[in-house]
Formats: sequence, C-alpha cells, structure tokens
Amino acid sequence: MTTSPLTEAVGWQDDAACADTEPGRFFSSDEHTQREALNLCRGCPVRESCLEHALRHGERYGIWGGLREHERAQLARKRRRAA
Ligand code: SF4
Repeated sequence: MTTSPLTEAVGWQDDAACADTEPGRFFSSDEHTQREALNLCRGCPVRESCLEHALRHGERYGIWGGLREHERAQLARKRRRAA
C-alpha cells in the first residue's frame, strides 16, 4: 500500500500544510489539481522533511516535498551520481 504525506504517522506531519486537505489531491493526474497541491507545498513548514522522507522511502507516486514524481527521480539520480 502506498503511504501519503497524510496517512503515515511521522512527527513532522503534524505541522504539514496539507494536514487538513484531501490526500488524493497529491496523487491526481490532473494538472490543475497538481498545481493546487504544489501551491500548498510552497508554503509548507515541513517541506524539506517531507521531501527527505519520500526520497528515503523511495516514494514513487504523488507529490512529496513540493516535487512531482519525475522531479524526485531526477533529484535521486543526481544525489546518487554525487555520492
Ligand atoms: S511539502 Fe507538500 S506534501 Fe509534504 S507535507 Fe507539506 S504540503 Fe504536504
């Protein structure tokens, strides 16, 4: 089962900007809905923790830490090359 920024019990999620929103918004294929989710991420106080969590756990789907799937994959590849 895929976890979402809202469903896994992790301390930083208590302060998430998306805490009171519909999790499906972060897994939508609709561009407009994705942009709404990304706008929430922009002002999120735990954005960095969210992104690192997603990278550490290999979250393949959805928006995490203000990045879409392909953007996280690019970042992960970049980090592997730099390591
Ligand atoms: S960065 Fe985005 S997905 Fe992550 S907790 Fe904040 S609002 Fe939710």
